[in-house]
Amino acid sequence: MLVVISGPGGVGKGTVVARLLGRDPRLWLSRSWTTRSRRPGEAADAYVFVDRPAFEAHAAAGGFLEWAEFQGNLYGTPTPEAPPGLDVVLEIDVQGAEQVLRRFPDALFVFIDAPSRAVQAERLRGRGDPEAKVMQRLAVAEAEAVAARRLGAVSVVNDDLDAAVAALEALVADERARSG
Ligand code: ADP
Ligand code: 5GP
Repeated sequence: MLVVISGPGGVGKGTVVARLLGRDPRLWLSRSWTTRSRRPGEAADAYVFVDRPAFEAHAAAGGFLEWAEFQGNLYGTPTPEAPPGLDVVLEIDVQGAEQVLRRFPDALFVFIDAPSRAVQAERLRGRGDPEAKVMQRLAVAEAEAVAARRLGAVSVVNDDLDAAVAALEALVADERARSG
């Protein structure tokens, strides 16, 4: 089973996914590569932080399952090497999800969103994102939601955190039952 989670910046994807992984030891989160710099307070292992030449060399060598440019930075999923028996979780943008859909049409696609753009903005600011970044991320959020609907992703609204985690857990359980 492959689980692909997308959603606009600051809606709480990382928070929800971390909770989900803490509750389900059969899930394995792929760590992406990025050329963006680390945010203040962000975990050193949130990504593999690399410069553009290193990223491009890895892409040219066929080392990514998918990659995309998002707001001036490159992000990519290295070819997953999950321990046997574990299900892979990708937390990637919608352009990346479209690439995964072409290769793995049976994957579970989930789009996490905030209850409103105002709440999303509050969360971005609360996380300490600079105002220019807040504006950039809000500006693309609706287009991301449209793209996610087009690819058939299931929507989860992250209003109450526990409820959002429970909704995602239920989707994973259904998918496990379906894919046997
Ligand atoms: P993303 O990974 O989507 O960019 P984060 O997981 O970094 O978002 O969350 C953005 C901010 O919103 C963080 O400060 C996080 O603690 C907060 N947050 C996440 N989920 C909720 C929620 N359900 N209610 C209130 N705040 C939340
Ligand atoms: P952030 O800079 O907020 O961590 O991430 C920006 C966007 O890039 C988010 O939509 C996030 O899901 C996405 N992203 C993170 N890793 C990957 C990846 O490996 N591939 C793609 N395509 N997008 C990613």
